[in-house]
Amino acid sequence: MSSATTTAPHPAGLARKLADSGLRSTPQREVVYEVLLKRRDHPTADEVFTRVKPELPSISLATVYNCLETLVQCDLVRAVNFERGPTRYCPNLIPHAHFHDEVTGQTHDIDLPPALFAKLKAVVPAGFDANAVEITFRGKFIASSVN
Ligand SMILES: [Zn+2]
Repeated sequence: MSSATTTAPHPAGLARKLADSGLRSTPQREVVYEVLLKRRDHPTADEVFTRVKPELPSISLATVYNCLETLVQCDLVRAVNFERGPTRYCPNLIPHAHFHDEVTGQTHDIDLPPALFAKLKAVVPAGFDANAVEITFRGKFIASSVN
């Protein structure tokens, strides 16, 4: 947990964000957040639980759910829902779309250029102030056509 890694968001930011919301950083919240930052594959709560368990063997699934809920409330993590599937969690806070691979079930982040995000916001009628947009592409990953 103390591995001072490079430039990625780090629990220091977590502590600050939590404090902004009047919450304290706990080992559970830190480990859950680290797990999300480490592998950005949009895991479900169950998958997060499996990854957290080796580090915090006594943690319960309910606690993992609570930690995820807290991180979402503090705007550190986005909850992503695809129809009928379980909620997935994404620590990428830059506006982006998702690409849901219908073959593998994997979810990929797709950059949403700020200019495009601004254009999308412009579609929203006056009186509404959008701060997020959810776009999901569905399809399959086709290996680079150069072969
Ligand atoms: Zn994402």
